[in-house]
Amino acid sequence: MHYRNRKKLLAIGLVSILLLLNGCGNAAERAADSGDEKAVSEAAASQSIASSQEAAPSENTASSQTGTSSQNAASSAEELLTREVFAMDTYMTFSAYGEDAETALDEAEAEILRLDQLLAAESEDSEVAALNKNGGGRLSEDTAYLIERSIALNEETDGAFEITVYPVKQAWGFTDENYRIPSDEELAELLPLVGSDQLELDAENKTVTYKKEGMKIDLGGITKGYASSRLTDIFMKHDVQGMINLGGNVQVYGPKPDGSGWRVAIQTPERTEENTLPWLSQAASGSAALAGVDYIGVLETDSQAVITSGGYERYFEKDGVYYHHIIDPKTGYPSDADLVSVTIVSEDGTLADGLSTSMFVLGLDKASEIWRAHSDEFDMILMDTDGRLYATEGIKEQFTSDLEIHWIA
Ligand code: ADP
Ligand code: MG
Repeated sequence: MHYRNRKKLLAIGLVSILLLLNGCGNAAERAADSGDEKAVSEAAASQSIASSQEAAPSENTASSQTGTSSQNAASSAEELLTREVFAMDTYMTFSAYGEDAETALDEAEAEILRLDQLLAAESEDSEVAALNKNGGGRLSEDTAYLIERSIALNEETDGAFEITVYPVKQAWGFTDENYRIPSDEELAELLPLVGSDQLELDAENKTVTYKKEGMKIDLGGITKGYASSRLTDIFMKHDVQGMINLGGNVQVYGPKPDGSGWRVAIQTPERTEENTLPWLSQAASGSAALAGVDYIGVLETDSQAVITSGGYERYFEKDGVYYHHIIDPKTGYPSDADLVSVTIVSEDGTLADGLSTSMFVLGLDKASEIWRAHSDEFDMILMDTDGRLYATEGIKEQFTSDLEIHWIA
């Protein structure tokens, strides 16, 4: 059995592109020279933003440590300050410009570390871990808000967004990387613990009670989007503008220093070590259209979150079958819909993150239906298992691609 997280691989592909960009090639070059994949990855992730040319969706990482490094790379005359942080299992880069940019970045870094500490189900001393241990309890402001939003999303997505899926995620080994395939009996025992209707939330008094013993929640499907929204609030408060890239989940606030929009590149579903694309149908994975395409397309924006979910982000393989980390709450299995990549574009980062996970579970038709009912709140960029690219009409002026785009109206 082998497995992979997207983190290391993407980096190598990116380095060649990134080195062409101005100003900050050294870290990536050094990393590439050293042959250290992780270092390459870190440099690459930050590179794309420091250059303020493109933000490339970056990678998740399996490592559970949290660490930070900070660097202020003023980009020529425009004084774009960047900060690199490793948190929430991923490499992050914050970029800001404006009089108080330095202060805003300090606060942003402190905030991301605080949220990581509070929300990570996997880390024993988090608030979420305590709730899971005790079957509920008192909630901080952040957790109360996130559970409330998650329950609402659960209702809006026919149950696809389901934070109580954590016991099932554990059974598959996605929480500790001891990957395994649970037996049908085991899943049948766990599925009754899955269901947001068994969470009793008292939003006013900020408490939650799990109605069944053994229930556990996991805010991983929504945390990064919430975090980028919070950091955007910090930028706003300090009247600075810039971009937040949480491992490929991007949120921008205000234009680039030169007044133009940020160009956020949507990554092509990643290849395996064997250079295959098992997420796509046989025909599509060998298609000439996708060969050598690093990006599905590029979205230009100066005010939105751009958040992507895909099975290729975290998975393991056994006997030729690929199992990924987004669980269909109805079956307890990795979701098996007809999409390989879902990007949600919205001013609300929390919504964008929750929906990217949900739409991945729901598939193209249902996702389109939900978009039609809420087209004022978000847009989507989707790739299906046949390698076809879809985008919703609301971003017609913002999204471009070398591939043919099927517009959803
Ligand atoms: P990322 O890893 O980039 O944050 P997502 O936003 O798609 O990707 O979140 C995936 C995570 O969400 C999983 O690792 C798991 O913690 C959690 N999750 C898995 N399935 C579901 C689901 N059906 N509803 C809500 N959260 C889920
Ligand atoms: Mg998500």
